[in-house]
Amino acid sequence: MLSRFGATSSAMAQRLDRYDAIAAELGVRPTWPTTACVLARNPELLRRYVDRGAELAVHGLVHGDHAMLERAEQRDAIARALEIFAHAGIEATGFRGPYLRYNAATIEVLRELGFRYHSSQAVLFPVVDGPLDASAAAGYQLAIELYSARDARRVAVIPRLADGLVDIPVAIPDDEILIERLGLEEPERTATWLRVLDWTYARGDLFTLQLHPERIGELGPALHATLAEARRRRPSVFIARLDELASWWTRRSGFALSVTRTDGDRYQVRLRADDDATLLVRGLDVPRRPWHRDDAISDRFEFEVASDRMPVVGISRRSPPAVARFLAEEGLPFEISDDRRVYGAYVDVASTTWREAELLEAIDASGGPLVRIGRWPAGARSALAATGDIDAITLLDFALRSWETRRKPQKERHP
Ligand SMILES: [Zn+2]
Repeated sequence: MLSRFGATSSAMAQRLDRYDAIAAELGVRPTWPTTACVLARNPELLRRYVDRGAELAVHGLVHGDHAMLERAEQRDAIARALEIFAHAGIEATGFRGPYLRYNAATIEVLRELGFRYHSSQAVLFPVVDGPLDASAAAGYQLAIELYSARDARRVAVIPRLADGLVDIPVAIPDDEILIERLGLEEPERTATWLRVLDWTYARGDLFTLQLHPERIGELGPALHATLAEARRRRPSVFIARLDELASWWTRRSGFALSVTRTDGDRYQVRLRADDDATLLVRGLDVPRRPWHRDDAISDRFEFEVASDRMPVVGISRRSPPAVARFLAEEGLPFEISDDRRVYGAYVDVASTTWREAELLEAIDASGGPLVRIGRWPAGARSALAATGDIDAITLLDFALRSWETRRKPQKERHP
């Protein structure tokens, strides 16, 4: 571990340069959540990358566990971190908790302080192949628990907007798991991230890749291969910084897709949205270009069409209200009704323990007709962000990291 950090910033600067160069070659700008005390000690170095288009987000004042901190402590620490960023001439709009950990107070404090996004929730993709030896299996399980990771097989891996703050999930296995927990070598490191890309592409999900710049030596080839493959795909992958993803998701939440019956079996479809919105149509005889499986893209945001069923999702009256909220975030227009025959797709959720992934699969399996607002801009199929936390730059940062987070007594963990 210590060999990664030199007494001066030059060893780490070389790693940041390499990360920056790999990303730049593929037209990608990274997001590097940075601990504020590290920025305070290395402002010129880090500002150089911001000038080249990298984004720095706040990664704590010190590298502490925010799941263990009271609200007031978090407010003080994160406000102080913002001041350090401002003093370095960097306007940060996002936050990632050290160790991908946070609690409910973190979210409240971020809203109060005017942050636009939060990116600390880990989502586990089922991409680790083959049997693991006992110690790798135990280490892997420990990491999943430490991160309180969600299961990508159950949830839609997309940003969520709640009260003005966008929550952007982080994909695992991350670099730390690939190397420290699973002990993978090439070509398995690259293969594992390519499987995450395949998974997210198949489902239209978001792949927030986490690679600490300090590990670029080990994982540079995997980063390059993953970004290059994402760039090759058609339909495209929306590759963006986290602040760009947050701003897209916020803009998208203001788009409105309406379907109204005009006469008998005719419907008026109208999307009020920015030009880069994606309007998907299925089973409708309108001008369209192929996109993915049954879905096509309509370049016209307003049209009238004949259809024997209404091109929206019907939701049964007994379904929990969270189902309708989820479909709204998914850009699917819906009607609440028990008459399942009149809609292009229909969902009936009898219990409060439902899975987003299953609901989407059921809708996807319906032949339509359907219209919806695509998740990503300009007809992109899925999304990807290259991110990497900067926890330390010099050996001094690394040593101080342990000391700084131990100054305060450990508190009970909040549920
Ligand atoms: Zn960190």
